[in-house]
Amino acid sequence: MDRKTRCWAVVALFLAAGWGAADAAPRYRMSLDVDYAAGTYSGEVAIDYANGADIAQTEVFFRLYGNADALYGAASIVVTSADVGGQSVSPSLYADDTVVFVPLPSPLAPGDATEIVLRFEGSAARLGPTGFATDSEYGLLTRSDSMLTLTAFYPILAPYTSEGWAIDPVAPHGDAAFADAADYDVTLLVPQGVTVIPVPNSVDDAGDGRVRCTFAKTGLRDFPLVLIDGSLTPRSATASGVTIRAWYPLRHEQASLITLDRSVASVDVYSALFGPLPFACVDIVEAPLQRVAGVECSGLFLVAADYAASPRDPFFDIIVSHEMAHQWFYAAVGNDPTEEPWLDESLATFASNVFLSLAVSDDVARAERAQWATAYQQALLSAPDLRVASPLYAFPDSGTYSAFAYSGGAHELDALRQALGDDAFFRGLADYYQGGLGRIAVGSDLERSFRDACGCWPTSPLFDSARTPSL
Ligand SMILES: [Zn+2]
Repeated sequence: MDRKTRCWAVVALFLAAGWGAADAAPRYRMSLDVDYAAGTYSGEVAIDYANGADIAQTEVFFRLYGNADALYGAASIVVTSADVGGQSVSPSLYADDTVVFVPLPSPLAPGDATEIVLRFEGSAARLGPTGFATDSEYGLLTRSDSMLTLTAFYPILAPYTSEGWAIDPVAPHGDAAFADAADYDVTLLVPQGVTVIPVPNSVDDAGDGRVRCTFAKTGLRDFPLVLIDGSLTPRSATASGVTIRAWYPLRHEQASLITLDRSVASVDVYSALFGPLPFACVDIVEAPLQRVAGVECSGLFLVAADYAASPRDPFFDIIVSHEMAHQWFYAAVGNDPTEEPWLDESLATFASNVFLSLAVSDDVARAERAQWATAYQQALLSAPDLRVASPLYAFPDSGTYSAFAYSGGAHELDALRQALGDDAFFRGLADYYQGGLGRIAVGSDLERSFRDACGCWPTSPLFDSARTPSL
């Protein structure tokens, strides 16, 4: 933990005077005007913020993840003005401009609500002909020559957890976006002829060469948008009540076919094992990414274009099924990707392997489990102070992080499966999923689900440092 991180941990602890995350889902009412050619946008987001804590709040925090240079490159988001309850207030920025402090004009008692309105402007990072501007960015808020990827592009209400406001600085590896499940009513203005993903609920002619798209979504951790040049038709199918759409350029038709096949099969496997998804659609979009093979959002995930060029590689199956598993573990059941990044990554890695074993090739699945064991053992030898459940900022680099949180975590889950037996183990996972649906879970919730399912006290390095249960 570096000095700045320690400082923010102290601030968060200081603010954590009482437990109580709000149970009512926040509702974002957002209007967005996109200059597609320039890769810039302006908008307004209004939230009826309800104080779910048991203490009065004098401030509310939002996140601007897109300002984290290490992951988002030159992308930027600026809050231009803020109102609370109709009164203008002056927000301030912290943690490399990724945290917005919004003062409340008067203390907000527990259970009370007020409307917070933030107006904002944003600019996507430019992907030039020679590639990304920096070696570190993922490509999550990026304008390339044929598309505009907009994830974490607007002010996102920070969760208020048992440890206070979640305002950790963004680490230079792993995932950053962390939010309560929320409902979204979004109006988007874009030029005519641009493909908009996800598919809007309605599209009307705005009369000035643009169209007005509206979206009404419930239970999302985040609201992603991908805009693509011209008309693009997805390859679609339905699995376990979920519409799946694979959006690939024509030159990657094979990747589109394999993606849809693996997506249908994995949605069926995960729905049967864990429970049904709360989303009507999942969109899978090829995007120019670097450093990552895929990235999960809510109801949508991105697949790196580089990997879509080799869809017959078994790793492509792993990418699609891993990111699809994040719809269950990240999007439907949330967790803190900074303090407990292993929770969703271990589960997604493990679930993907179960899918591989059942629907693709048991040999490939077995080989992947052997790779987990090797990577994990090497990581334990080279970094004996770290463990699967370490926070993101404890890992010195993405390789070490992956060896513990992905390989090590999935390996330990597989060891638990062997110890508990399939019946108790998968009942435990289903209980964790269904109990955590729409909420933010912690590691001890998973431990308790296994304990209840087996009627025993399972021991695992995963649960060495139990955090406060939230379910
Ligand atoms: Zn993942």
